[in-house]
Amino acid sequence: MKNIVIYGAPAAGKGTQCEMLIADYGYNHISTGQLFRELDDSTEFNRKIKRKITEGILIDDETTAQLLKNKLDSLGAGKVIIDGFPRNLNQAKILDEFLEDYVVINLEVTEQMALSRALGRLNCPKCGKIYNKYSEEMKPKKEGYCDNCNVLLEGRSDDTEEGFKTRFHIYLDNVNGLLDYYKKKGILYTVVSEESKFDTNKNVKKVIEGE
Ligand code: AMP
Repeated sequence: MKNIVIYGAPAAGKGTQCEMLIADYGYNHISTGQLFRELDDSTEFNRKIKRKITEGILIDDETTAQLLKNKLDSLGAGKVIIDGFPRNLNQAKILDEFLEDYVVINLEVTEQMALSRALGRLNCPKCGKIYNKYSEEMKPKKEGYCDNCNVLLEGRSDDTEEGFKTRFHIYLDNVNGLLDYYKKKGILYTVVSEESKFDTNKNVKKVIEGE
């Protein structure tokens, strides 16, 4: 099996598909957004990163690439699924220095669906499981609490309408360049992520197992 880069608009379902793929295939998951969210607030540098995340703007390529490289190095061997990197063409070229033998799975979703997913998204602060209060299949069993940990679920600071719009516009500015780059390399697979997470997962698995 190859390494995977999962790409798509904000709230396209990348984290949810990663969760499902990890359960089925045991990939090491790297989410650059999650690595940033896990930073503590002890330095002004980290606090600045957290403020940018809340606004929905990107962190600079050098800082993000270094964070990714450290994580890749710490994981050693084993296949990875990368979620949240690259966000632009420069990062795509950087990734080619770090990672070999990968495919890109592009999750396609309408802006309206992505916005509704962002506004309904909840995460467990303990195990990281992703829920959505507006989706029958992704609602927690007990409203507001994690099914696994019984811990109170949290929303992300950037999952506001304003934060989403900023992130979506950044995505629109970069998507064509990135998809062209991967199309030319012959490693791009697009999967519609509009309906059930299980349907999307079936199609994502077809890509992975066909490789
Ligand atoms: P995500 O969890 O992927 O939605 O990322 C949340 C936020 O983390 C983004 O809006 C950015 O502020 C930051 N971030 C995550 N990945 C990157 C990246 N590859 N480049 C720059 N900023 C990033």
